[in-house]
Amino acid sequence: MKLVFATNNSHKLTEVRQILGEGFTVVGLADIGCHEDIPETAETLEGNALQKARYVKAHYGLDCFADDTGLEVAALNGAPGVHTARYAELFGEGTTHDSDANMNLLLHHLEKITDRSARFRTAIALIYQGEEHLFEGICEGSILRERHGHEGFGYDPVFQPAGFDRCFAEMTADEKNSISHRGRATQKLVDFLKAKR
Ligand code: IMP
Repeated sequence: MKLVFATNNSHKLTEVRQILGEGFTVVGLADIGCHEDIPETAETLEGNALQKARYVKAHYGLDCFADDTGLEVAALNGAPGVHTARYAELFGEGTTHDSDANMNLLLHHLEKITDRSARFRTAIALIYQGEEHLFEGICEGSILRERHGHEGFGYDPVFQPAGFDRCFAEMTADEKNSISHRGRATQKLVDFLKAKR
């Protein structure tokens, strides 16, 4: 079974291939010669994931899945949410995926806030045999007052999953993947695909 994962992130590709195992061929955007910037202009994570998957299906005719992740902070009414990657660019100073600027802005907004609860949420959209499917993965946790650890990426140094006394950036990749939003959503996708094989 051949599927496109609408991403240029080689870490995400490796991770999905490892979980899927034999019987599935997952290729990335570069592998199908897609070098365009696929629009992500929806108002929700699900909308963005569907937008990317539909783009690949429409332009390349291939079955495909795509993901989108957001950090939802309770005290900020779910922000940065769909704007997680561009938080500082849109609401402060910085560029897209500028993790340092993003974390600075988040810590600044939460400076006087005691409710630190937050969650990471991943939506995966799959277009398979002419049908669309959505999978969701959630990791509940809280935002620390300062950065810890050096592993991972993005907001990992300030996000501590519930039930742990270490943040994502203080975990190994395997440990994080086993409880993370993306790991959970990916597992649901994989369970679905394995049942179809
Ligand atoms: P994407 O949809 O996977 O590109 O994620 C959007 C943004 O969410 C990224 O730019 C990161 O800032 C953040 N993000 C996604 N997943 C994680 C994670 O596992 N840890 C920390 N930050 C993440």
